Amino acid sequence: SRNKPLADEVDPKVLARRTPGFTPADIENMLNEAALLAARDKRVKITMIDIQEGINKVLMGPKKKSRLVTEDDKKITAIHEAGHAVAMYSLPTHDPVRHITIIPRGQSLGSTWSLPRDDSFNMTRNQMYEEIVSLLGGRVAEALFLGDISTGASNDIQRATSLARNMVTLYGMSEALGLMAPATVGNQYLDGQSYLDCSQETSALVDREVQKLLNTCYNETKTLLTDNRELLDEISAHLLTKETITGDELMAFVNASKAQPAAEETTPTEE
Ligand code: ZN
Repeated sequence: SRNKPLADEVDPKVLARRTPGFTPADIENMLNEAALLAARDKRVKITMIDIQEGINKVLMGPKKKSRLVTEDDKKITAIHEAGHAVAMYSLPTHDPVRHITIIPRGQSLGSTWSLPRDDSFNMTRNQMYEEIVSLLGGRVAEALFLGDISTGASNDIQRATSLARNMVTLYGMSEALGLMAPATVGNQYLDGQSYLDCSQETSALVDREVQKLLNTCYNETKTLLTDNRELLDEISAHLLTKETITGDELMAFVNASKAQPAAEETTPTEE
C-alpha cells in the first residue's frame, strides 16, 4: 500500500482477514481498484468501502452494470442470498457473514461471503456439515418463500454435493461406510480429482449416504430459515432497495429484532 493514501479506518489486520489466499498480484489489483474508485470520486484517501469493492472485483470479476437484470431475477436473488446469510448467521460455528449483495458479477446474480475467523486449514465434520447447510440456504429460501425454485442454486448444489461426497468417500465421515475410504485422490499436482475404487454395491451405498447427508442438511436448513423468517424478509427487502448489506449492518438488524421481542414470545399460544 506504499504510495497509496489510506483512510485511518483502514485496518491492515481486518484487511488480512478479508483476503485469505490472495497472491501479491491480487492484493496489488485490489488496491489499484480501490485507488481508482477513490480517484473517480475525487477523494484523497482510500476508504474501506473502496477496498471492499477492490476485494469483490478480485474475487468475482468486475460489476456487470450493463447486464440487464429483471425485477423477477432481483427478487429471486434477494431471497436466495438472504437465505445463505440467515443460514450462515444461525449456524453455531460458521464464520460470520461479511457481505451480501445482489449486484451481478461474473456468472452469478448475487453473492454472500463469510469472513474466516482464522487461517486454520483443517475442517471438522461439524464445519463441513455447516458449510453444506449454508450452501443450501439459497435454494431452501426460494423453495420456502417463493414457492418455486430457480437455476440460481446450481453452483451451490454442485459444491454441497461434492462436499458431501468427499465426507463419505474420502474422510471416513459416514456411519454406513465407517472408516472405509472408497475413493482415492489422483495426482494432487495435476487435477486432484478423486476416483471411486470399489464394488458396485459400495458405490450404490455411497450414493445413498451422500443423498442421506444432503437430505439431513436440507431439513436442518429448512428449520433454520423458518425459525428466522422475519430476519430473512428484512434482509431481502433491504437488498432490493440497497443491493448490498455488510456484516455489521446484518448484525444491526439482528440486534434490533432482539431488542423488541416478537409477540409470540411474550404471549404463549396453545395449539
Ligand atoms: Zn447461492
